[in-house]
Amino acid sequence: MRKFIIFWATLLASLSLLLPSAQSSEGFAISEGITITQITKNTFVHSSDNNNGLIYISGKEALIVSTPQTDRQTQDLIDWITQEKHVKIVGYVIDRWHPDAMGGLAAVHANGIPSYAYVRTQQIAQQKGLPVPQQAMDERAIIHVGDQTVECAFLGKAHTEDGIVVWLPNEQVLFGGNEIRNYKGWVGNIGDANLKDWASTARRIKDLYGSARIVIPGHGPFGGAELIEYTIDLFSPFSNQINDAPRPDLSDLLDQRAVIVVKASESSEDGDIKIFKDATILSSDATKYVRIEAPVVRWNIKTNRVDSAKGHLAIFDKTPGRAVLRASAAYTKLIVIPVNEQVGLAVIVKAMTPD
Ligand SMILES: [Zn+2]
Repeated sequence: MRKFIIFWATLLASLSLLLPSAQSSEGFAISEGITITQITKNTFVHSSDNNNGLIYISGKEALIVSTPQTDRQTQDLIDWITQEKHVKIVGYVIDRWHPDAMGGLAAVHANGIPSYAYVRTQQIAQQKGLPVPQQAMDERAIIHVGDQTVECAFLGKAHTEDGIVVWLPNEQVLFGGNEIRNYKGWVGNIGDANLKDWASTARRIKDLYGSARIVIPGHGPFGGAELIEYTIDLFSPFSNQINDAPRPDLSDLLDQRAVIVVKASESSEDGDIKIFKDATILSSDATKYVRIEAPVVRWNIKTNRVDSAKGHLAIFDKTPGRAVLRASAAYTKLIVIPVNEQVGLAVIVKAMTPD
């Protein structure tokens, strides 16, 4: 009888781990803005502003993936792990060059923790004058933590051209980073994305790690391997997009920045917000233009943030003398925000349909 009960207890425990429905356990706050959620005995998700990273502990050692936005938050995270878990942080993996993944890198280095990143991330950080991850990894790399291993893999361009995923073989946990989207959440910052390659990159992730029990996206609730499938479906329509849609002549605007109103049937003001109707507006940074055509566009003249509830979006790469269309799509809910001089424009959409 006792054996039977133990059997059922084990079965129930494993069943609850197999359930694909996300975020069963509630997280707890360790400092202002940082939440920790335990997902397996040795694995934790750290979240700040809906932005996820991973903590993996094996024996007396720990590895962290992805920093919060700031040095302060990253220091809080490092302090919690060393003081509460009594482990040594043997490495910090940076999974992409965006500020929501390496904004706290200076704090990592100040603590003498070695940082690892895909070689392309290191190059981009250098080019952009950002703090540079110390150890360059190849497309596939193994890091030892305690008596376990962690696998880092670059499987193609997606959310950025350098994003990696991190696999914990002993836990069957995949940190998908921003290559994997949370279910029905925002599509995220597509300002630096390769929408055309994204689905095939996600397919490679599925081929290698489709057996994952838990998949953690870069933002929002975690789930199971169905999140990989969801991401493939989300970006498949872009795989064959032919980027030859008509475009305005941008040649005389090549050096401009911030927001340019190309046309609008009507404009009004509400404090710092300018509201344009039936508008075409351009926003640009050092490497790209974003063209928005929408019934209503709101532009904050102080922050240069642009908001629109629905409309059409096109992203162009700036190349000498002309602009080359990278992707175009209809969207619902769009935000364009200048992040900073180095990082450029973040283009965040809720949902989109390619032309
Ligand atoms: Zn990002």
